[in-house]
Amino acid sequence: MKILLIAGARPNFVKIAPLYKAFLQYPDMHPRIVHTGQHSDYQMSGIFFRQLDIPQPHYFLGIAQGSPTMQTAEIMSAFERVVNAEMPDWVVVVGDVTSTLACALVAAHMRIPLAHVEAGLRSRDRTMPEEMNRILTDAISDQLFATEEAAVRNLLAENIDPHRIHLVGNVMIDSLVRFCGWIGDCSAGKHSRISGGRYLLITMHRPANVDQEEGLRKIAGMLEMLGSHWEIVFVMHPRTMRNAAAFGLDFSQIAGVTILPPQGYVEFLGLMQHAVVVITDSGGVQEETTFLGIPCITLRNSTERPVTVTCGTNHLLPDFDAQKVWDTIEKVLSRTSEDAKIPPLWDGNTAQRIVRILREKCINP
Ligand code: UDP
Repeated sequence: MKILLIAGARPNFVKIAPLYKAFLQYPDMHPRIVHTGQHSDYQMSGIFFRQLDIPQPHYFLGIAQGSPTMQTAEIMSAFERVVNAEMPDWVVVVGDVTSTLACALVAAHMRIPLAHVEAGLRSRDRTMPEEMNRILTDAISDQLFATEEAAVRNLLAENIDPHRIHLVGNVMIDSLVRFCGWIGDCSAGKHSRISGGRYLLITMHRPANVDQEEGLRKIAGMLEMLGSHWEIVFVMHPRTMRNAAAFGLDFSQIAGVTILPPQGYVEFLGLMQHAVVVITDSGGVQEETTFLGIPCITLRNSTERPVTVTCGTNHLLPDFDAQKVWDTIEKVLSRTSEDAKIPPLWDGNTAQRIVRILREKCINP
């Protein structure tokens, strides 16, 4: 069995690593990693391959930066050549980025069985590019692997055949479980200012929050208010950095704020683990904080990962303003403990479940 595993952007690398390793446990299964190049610099890509201990991609499509439309077109034509050369038994896509949908479309056109890992998540906000990628990828996938019950319900409501839907847990948590034993030692101490400190960890990169000057000014206002009382570590995504620079905003001048560039996976896990509260708009970080039991405030109007709110440590804060964030932090910290649980099947064994199911489907289609 030949499997093409698709990755393009930072969260994808964290998700494909456990899948790649799970496929390798079977001598007759041959996974190949296809990296589209959506994120290609070392801090957003190479470091993840090194830390997660997966080989360099078998195919690197090297697509240029550009609009989602341009990137989709480029990925599709480059990936079609890979599929023609390999004729795989499965194409496996993860998550919700441009590469996910572009490669899914190619597999569907070429009638290669397609599996979507992290299927069924819905924010119900179609202004998010990721939401369109999720809906469209799910509509053309042959096997759909869900992280939580709500995702299964969403797929059923979209009339997807129940036999193709599998509630298997979360591959991102598989990676986390692997590192859990030693993240305690590895990171926060490297930055002496924050070692041992009680800091808030912030990461923001969704277009709705960081593409317009107004959103970035709101973030600056929040940093000013929180920085007057808390130590803040703001790990800046390249998109946020680029846009802040374009609007002439320098967050590093705000009292109490330490700006860090994008961190390696292990370093970022360490930063999360030592944070008092994490403030984010990232999808994966909502899940990882739930697993780690760290309170998380999500500055978005909706989340496609509701289990992190109903079961985990996530607090969704729509229409954010600084005062609301402040009040939520106070509320969260006044509790003696978060009444939170780890969602079912987020146990570190999800990739193995997925591979077992795909293998079975291949042997007994
Ligand atoms: N992450 C990281 N370094 C950072 C910020 C995030 O390694 O500086 C990890 C984070 O732990 C998670 C993944 O990147 O595993 C989430 O990626 P991102 O927030 O870019 O994407 P999203 O999950 O929002 O799609």
